[in-house]
Amino acid sequence: MLTKSDRCRHCYRRHRSWQARAQCLLRPTFWVTGNPPLSGPCFASISDCGRWAGRVARTVILYPTREEAEKAKRRLDNDACGGRCSNRHRVIELRP
Ligand SMILES: [Zn+2]
Ligand SMILES: [Zn+2]
Repeated sequence: MLTKSDRCRHCYRRHRSWQARAQCLLRPTFWVTGNPPLSGPCFASISDCGRWAGRVARTVILYPTREEAEKAKRRLDNDACGGRCSNRHRVIELRP
């Protein structure tokens, strides 16, 4: 659960969404999708396989449950990651 009064330990701002929090915590991100409600937990399915202009293009998808995030990771593990997959997929729980 992320409350609006929680200050981010990274940037000391108050993030008003899990998406903003993920963008801060997992920087540099290429894109972040999904925005679970602030009233619950947030799990991120992360891929570090992508490359953009020679750097890691980290893609992050946010889910309200670990189960969904693990499912998304398994999809990446199987085939959904695309071209130059180096199997760098993981799931983390975001902390406020
Ligand atoms: Zn922050
Ligand atoms: Zn991959």
